[in-house]
Amino acid sequence: VQTIGVLTSGGDAPGMNAAIRAVVRQALAKGKKVKGIKKGYAGLLAEEIIDMDATSVSDTISRGGTILQTARCLEFKEAEVQAKGAEICRKHGIDGIVVIGGDGSFQGAQKLARLGINTIGVPGTIDLDIACTDYTIGFDTAVNTAMEAIDKVRDTSTSHERCSVIEVMGRGAGYIALWCGIANGSEEILLPEKYDHDEEAIIKRIIEGRKKGKEHYIIINAEGIGHSQELAEKIEKATGVETRATILGHMQRGGSPTCKDRVYASTMGAYAVDLLCEGKSNRVVAYKNGEFVDYDIEEALAMQKTIPEYLYSISKDLV
Ligand code: ADP
Repeated sequence: VQTIGVLTSGGDAPGMNAAIRAVVRQALAKGKKVKGIKKGYAGLLAEEIIDMDATSVSDTISRGGTILQTARCLEFKEAEVQAKGAEICRKHGIDGIVVIGGDGSFQGAQKLARLGINTIGVPGTIDLDIACTDYTIGFDTAVNTAMEAIDKVRDTSTSHERCSVIEVMGRGAGYIALWCGIANGSEEILLPEKYDHDEEAIIKRIIEGRKKGKEHYIIINAEGIGHSQELAEKIEKATGVETRATILGHMQRGGSPTCKDRVYASTMGAYAVDLLCEGKSNRVVAYKNGEFVDYDIEEALAMQKTIPEYLYSISKDLV
């Protein structure tokens, strides 16, 4: 490859800037040119393409969000639109692309690879919902942000002897909920992968908890289950315990990335450039069993992600 393009796509995640910075600096170190593609595939189609040099990414490693911005672009699922995307790459001399995003973004990357543009995916999502990797850019920052917020809710919840239903993000995945549930010592963790919709059982446990002298009752609910407000109302009605729902929302996406997110995102960005320089395409960078590795995109997309059973079982034992 001679000119490497970089884009962020799908949901933003803290640490994406560290990855962009690493792509830019590693590419320059290897004597390549770099172009930034703004707003994901939408910006590619709109030719929002900028030249990047070492100073383009100065002062960005500590910043949340993505300096290239991101977007969803549903039309990129259409074959003729993908062909137009590949053509625009060629027009701008881009012969390699690093796509930072989730599974959806990797599908777009795979299509570009088939159209002759060397493409490498880098896992960027706060949800940790990418099967081929134990780590995704932004998860560590997001769980730390959520954990700190939940601590704060817990303080006031204990003071008022309330029950709190706290909804964390994660789309269809329960990783943020599981990690926060353990880190915050919550009484209940509701994960979309495991939820049995037995609200009566929850209500029973709250009443028993009260009898045992529990001063609060924290329920971490995953976005993939939702309905936190309704659940809170139901609990209050059935137990007489004041119950509030707190939906943490988009605060979980923002903020300065943690050290882990900066270091891993930097490593993955550089690794993606190394793959392109080796002539590789249609690969996704991953972190598996303590090592940075890469997989064929098809193979990666076919993998199934599951909740770690031991973690889930201890989350129940430790309350
Ligand atoms: P994520 O990358 O976080 O999974 P999305 O699922 O929203 O987020 O996907 C991000 C973008 O990737 C979409 O807006 C679209 O532009 C592109 N994309 C998603 N699925 C496909 C597909 N099947 N083929 C081509 N592009 C896709």
